[in-house]
Amino acid sequence: MVAQVIDGKAFAAKVRAQVADQVAKLKEESGITPGLAVVLVGEDPASQVYVRSKGKQTVEVGMNSYEHKLDAETSEEDLLALIDKLNNDPAVHGILVQLPLPKHLNEDLVINSIDPAKDVDGFHISNVGLLGTGQKSMVPCTPLGCLMMLRDHHGSLSGMDAVVIGRSNIVGKPMAQLLLGDSCTVTIAHSRTKDLPDVVRRADIVVAAVGRPEMVPGDWIKEGATVIDVGINRIERDGKNKLVGDVDYASAAERAGAITPVPGGVGPMTIACLLANTLTACCRANGLPEPEGLTA
Ligand code: NAD
Repeated sequence: MVAQVIDGKAFAAKVRAQVADQVAKLKEESGITPGLAVVLVGEDPASQVYVRSKGKQTVEVGMNSYEHKLDAETSEEDLLALIDKLNNDPAVHGILVQLPLPKHLNEDLVINSIDPAKDVDGFHISNVGLLGTGQKSMVPCTPLGCLMMLRDHHGSLSGMDAVVIGRSNIVGKPMAQLLLGDSCTVTIAHSRTKDLPDVVRRADIVVAAVGRPEMVPGDWIKEGATVIDVGINRIERDGKNKLVGDVDYASAAERAGAITPVPGGVGPMTIACLLANTLTACCRANGLPEPEGLTA
């Protein structure tokens, strides 16, 4: 079997176009422009790239982008004061604090000081609890993007065996909750899982979110399974820098029914879902119907 490639770049463009359409309608019908505030503390180069990209895409879909760049020595008190100001600003519907934060700042405290209704990353403890109990929440962007691609490919996921490799708070755990919400039988595998190959071989859906280059070989993949590769790993091969996933793409594509490439799979969906979440937060804040097809 040669796998169908799930094109995350094209899918993300479709999601952004949907968001842009609905933002235009919202502006015309209610005079409301959704606004996303991104807070960056320090000069981490990767974070700077992400923040720039988020700001650019926010403006491209017609939303307002507010960037707050604070220096690396910013005190917790000053950061919390800024978040409080953004929580109370009616023009701001989504707040994202770019992680990781410098070591002297308490990440949990900072994230939990964001108004849960504006927490477009879905990391606030209230949103984690709401998702875990199957209630309306803000859903973390990367797992939401994976879910959208899976629903688009399969229609219903009900009754499928899904294995999520990785149990992080930002990908693995919320991904498992979302799959459970769509009535999959879910296994969460992690670094202490016994016989990982055997666990993965049973899966109709494999979501790999580990951060280890090509650790899942093709012969672990059940014939016809759908493989969602979240991993982004920078490696050097043949003297060149390369991005690879957690799955060995070439061998997995020979057995899978469908697979996401790296790059161009899950990656582009994350910012698209951030924009979708900002629109959702804006609609909820204004008592308007939620955008269709852009929430979990
Ligand atoms: P993390 O380091 O927080 O978690 C990794 C998880 O992998 C842990 O739960 C650990 O138990 C598990 N693990 C480690 N070694 C293992 C092994 N040998 N076998 C099975 N499980 C093992 O990582 P994260 O933040 O969840 O990110 C995972 C990967 O996804 C990274 O490559 C990251 O860059 C990528 N990522 C991509 C996006 C995106 O596409 N937009 C977003 C977030 C993360």
